[in-house]
Amino acid sequence: MDTRETNLVDITCPSCGAPLERKENEYFAKCPYCGTETGFDELMAEAQLGRFKQRVNAYEDIDRDREVLQKKQKSWSLIKNIFLAIFSVCNLIGFGIVGTTALQRNDHAMMFGVMFVLMSWAGFFFGVPILSFCYPDRDILTGKKEPGKRVGVFIRLSILSIALILVTAFLAFLIVEPYSKQYR
Ligand SMILES: [Zn+2]
Repeated sequence: MDTRETNLVDITCPSCGAPLERKENEYFAKCPYCGTETGFDELMAEAQLGRFKQRVNAYEDIDRDREVLQKKQKSWSLIKNIFLAIFSVCNLIGFGIVGTTALQRNDHAMMFGVMFVLMSWAGFFFGVPILSFCYPDRDILTGKKEPGKRVGVFIRLSILSIALILVTAFLAFLIVEPYSKQYR
């Protein structure tokens, strides 16, 4: 073992914590402060164990951060789903009302349906950017925000909401369609 290697770890007295100097080809040291005699290999092993523990702690911190982030993302996802479901139901009801009232030629009631549809579209239009902005995105190692992730979430949510509008509108058509025979 050469002196270069010993410089890799901080050698301190195990009894009082004073820094110990190691001279070449010396394997024992007497602490100048408290007089404790210690073998260098022992000290080295202890110092390395300390470093190792530090590293383990750092990884545990990262794991904890990751867990916190995952929990935040989960609750965000739940809120997002609830809002998208509300907007979708509004769209379904709106198109349903518009369809049936159009058949009945009831313009006043039809306005009510149009209102529902516009409300749901406004929900999607304003809700998607707000939800994307609230998406918890953070690089676990650096702790920095990653704006690119939110843009990705925004694009995905936009596509999803257009799909939800089309699907619920079509669903409303399927529900209303059988009644159209009555009015022919
Ligand atoms: Zn000492």
